[in-house]
Amino acid sequence: MITPEQFKKDVMKLAEDVGVSPREIHIQTMKRKWASCSSKGRLTFDKSLLNEPEEVRFRVILHELLHLKYPNHGKMFNSLLDTYLQRNINLNEEKEAKDHQLQDEGN
Ligand SMILES: [Zn+2]
Repeated sequence: MITPEQFKKDVMKLAEDVGVSPREIHIQTMKRKWASCSSKGRLTFDKSLLNEPEEVRFRVILHELLHLKYPNHGKMFNSLLDTYLQRNINLNEEKEAKDHQLQDEGN
């Protein structure tokens, strides 16, 4: 589990990466969904996300941040979402590959 402060930091970091600036970030208990985004740039995330693995948090945060660029789920939204998700997977794979390399050198 991470703290709300850590969660907000992650949101801000990813926001910078995506090139958007959310006005407000709120974390509270939500009944029916993970997160929501207002047209004024206010993002609200469900408290239970703090217990979710990083991958799940990343997806939800990214989804909401991209809504600050595209308010709908249109073609542009989905292709941008795919691009960022794919890039994150590549980054993780690269990291793993490096870890393995270091292990090999150690032996
Ligand atoms: Zn959405």
